[in-house]
Amino acid sequence: MKKHSLGRTGIKVTELCFGALPIGPLQANISVEEGARLIRMALEKGINFIDTAEGYKTYPHIKRALEGYSEEVIIATKSPATTYSEMEKSIQDALLSLQRPLIDIFHLHAARSTSSVFEERAGAWQCLKDYKAKGVIRAIGISTHNVGAVKRAIEIEEVDVIFPIINLLGMGITGGDLQDMIKLIGEAEKVGKGVYAMKALAGGHLINRLKEAFNFVRNIPGISSVAVGMTNLQELEVNIAIFNDEKLSPDINFDQLKPKKSLFIAGFCKGCGTCVDACPNHALSLKNGKAVVDHNLCILCGYCNPVCPEFAIRLI
Ligand code: SF4
Ligand code: SF4
Repeated sequence: MKKHSLGRTGIKVTELCFGALPIGPLQANISVEEGARLIRMALEKGINFIDTAEGYKTYPHIKRALEGYSEEVIIATKSPATTYSEMEKSIQDALLSLQRPLIDIFHLHAARSTSSVFEERAGAWQCLKDYKAKGVIRAIGISTHNVGAVKRAIEIEEVDVIFPIINLLGMGITGGDLQDMIKLIGEAEKVGKGVYAMKALAGGHLINRLKEAFNFVRNIPGISSVAVGMTNLQELEVNIAIFNDEKLSPDINFDQLKPKKSLFIAGFCKGCGTCVDACPNHALSLKNGKAVVDHNLCILCGYCNPVCPEFAIRLI
């Protein structure tokens, strides 16, 4: 599989990145053994890049997958930390849980943030800079859905990598639209930032236009890699074929590739509204004292279910 340089980081990543969110307990909840097997297959089939996050709870799957594997693997992770000490804890936890001597890419996990994110989380950002200077992290950056945050990240010299949401429907982009995001990705490349993309399939909304959706994102100038969540071998093989520009078998059943998960809100929801604020895509609202989801807007990103104090939101 083709590898691209990630900006000026010196890191080379495959065009397809294994997105680790869906195998974890927030989504498909695949066992550590099974998830590790899938990741290992992805690596053995040529993928060298894994994207995860502290909140995805997939460090055990990744650690197990890497046991005895000697080829180069690039791991990107992220933390919602705000303060210096919170970020320090996140870094130590990642090093220990993944059993790695260093972390290749560490982001501020900032889906819902705006352009002031670097000021609001100045302590956490300083910690990332310090740990990069110490050689514990190779590159630092931000993962975000927000156009303003991407714009700000381009202005900040120390940002090495940007991980924005982008798909041909523009779903999930906040603070601007698809064209704004495409333009900024091009500007990011010009100033030497590495950019890789999330949500190319808009949480499954583009599954019937799989090849078109992936190729749309692959062809945006400035994008080095696309993180794609995969939960089984069939998805892995189809995605690899597309990224290797191979002809797809006419027998592919796209219905089988559709995400089996859906978002469900239990009747015991107390209507506190916490999830409504947490959804970056305005897919949740309150009606008659209960949260309701607009499935046309939900991209199954999983940002709402961990914040519900009643555990009323399930991605099943
Ligand atoms: S956070 Fe949970 S309890 Fe609160 S409105 Fe959302 S689903 Fe209901
Ligand atoms: S409803 Fe939840 S899973 Fe769906 S887009 Fe909003 S935060 Fe993401």
